[in-house]
Amino acid sequence: MDFDLSEELTALRESVRRLARDKVLPRARDIDETGRYPDDIFAAFRDAGLLGLCIPVEYGGSGAGILGLTIAIEEVAKYSNTCALMLLLTRLPTGPVMIAGSEEQKQRYLPGIASGTHRAGFGLSESGAGSDVVGMMTRATSDPDREGGWVLNGVKCWMSGVVQADWYTVFAKTGDPSSRRHDSITAFIVERSYEGVSVGSIDKKMGVRGVDTGELVLSDVRVPAENVIGEVGGFRLAMLGLNSMRPVVAARGIGLAEGALMYAVDYVQQRRAFGGTIADFQGIQWEIAKLAIEIEAARLLTYRSAWLADQGKFTREWVPYLSMAKYYATEVAVKASGLSVQLLGAAGYMKDHPTELWYRDARQLTIVEGTSQVQLNLVARGVLDRHLWWD
Ligand SMILES: Cc1cc2nc3c(=O)[nH]c(=O)nc-3n(C[C@H](O)[C@H](O)[C@H](O)COP(=O)(O)OP(=O)(O)OC[C@H]3O[C@@H](n4cnc5c(N)ncnc54)[C@H](O)[C@@H]3O)c2cc1C
Repeated sequence: MDFDLSEELTALRESVRRLARDKVLPRARDIDETGRYPDDIFAAFRDAGLLGLCIPVEYGGSGAGILGLTIAIEEVAKYSNTCALMLLLTRLPTGPVMIAGSEEQKQRYLPGIASGTHRAGFGLSESGAGSDVVGMMTRATSDPDREGGWVLNGVKCWMSGVVQADWYTVFAKTGDPSSRRHDSITAFIVERSYEGVSVGSIDKKMGVRGVDTGELVLSDVRVPAENVIGEVGGFRLAMLGLNSMRPVVAARGIGLAEGALMYAVDYVQQRRAFGGTIADFQGIQWEIAKLAIEIEAARLLTYRSAWLADQGKFTREWVPYLSMAKYYATEVAVKASGLSVQLLGAAGYMKDHPTELWYRDARQLTIVEGTSQVQLNLVARGVLDRHLWWD
């Protein structure tokens, strides 16, 4: 057993740490206040080669895998969860293509993500189908004019990066829309330029502002046969893609928690009260200690889950290990951001400090890509099915 990162990953962490401090930290507040997409940060990520971390070398990436992306996101999330989300979006929509896409799809769609010429979005949720994805109503019917082609109709919602994306991984019912069967759902690559594709309403969010979240409207969109990802009826792909993403979302949580605790510790060590500093009180020290323990526990779960995902271990039997990382790291982020507000007192509640921003951002993490309750269901299923057992 070896807990050390490889030399390459240690160097990656150092370089992203510097980039995050130099470029992301000074921009975080402005991105939140204006809500404008930070093109300068995207360019900095592109120039540093971070957009292709999880893309294999043969498709223009650096092949650093999920663990490499996890480490980079952890560093960026110390200052801005919006910028961390920009990195996450290099994997969420490309995951199904990497897992089950054809060679042609990989050649066509992955190099643009790695080089930053193209961006992508992930369309699974609908207004009536979030946790219960099988309830989706977006429908794909056979194209009468094109052999093997499909015609898509529906509205995907809450899609991160919907405005900036050049293509989308979209899930639709190829079977009866009222069917609850998993094999009634298929994944497609839908290009932004296809006729009938448009961006609908944009959400007004409480946090993670700067990367838009909104609707993708599909009206009689004709998708060629070669843009089906994997098999028709391959809903399993949605779950495999999401399972392999658990460490990447978890990384946004641990990074945020680390940033919040470090900031609060700096503050309480200089804030004077009762003839000493706030950090002198044992009650405060114990809160710091308990959170530090939880952050390290979350980091270990997150790194292990990233390592598992890189081994291709994101099928059913590995789900509890992956889901517990997402659950725990994002819950720790909520807790850490709350504690950082509290430890700064009134100052923590004001926009002079980033604590209130982290508090708003953290709330997103326990909802997206499977809520905390859904992760608990998955962990429980794993234990009940003996996939997580200690005997
Ligand atoms: C900022 C943001 C960005 C997003 N980006 C994307 C994106 O890029 N692509 C995309 O497809 N989606 C995206 N989403 C949607 C996100 O994945 C869904 O919000 C999430 O899956 C939960 O679905 P829901 O909001 O419909 O909640 P619901 O499913 O309606 O759940 C409501 C509550 O009920 C609980 N609940 C539901 N089912 C169960 C159960 N079986 N047991 C116990 N409790 C349960 C939930 O945990 C939650 O607390 C985004 C959401 C947000 C907020």
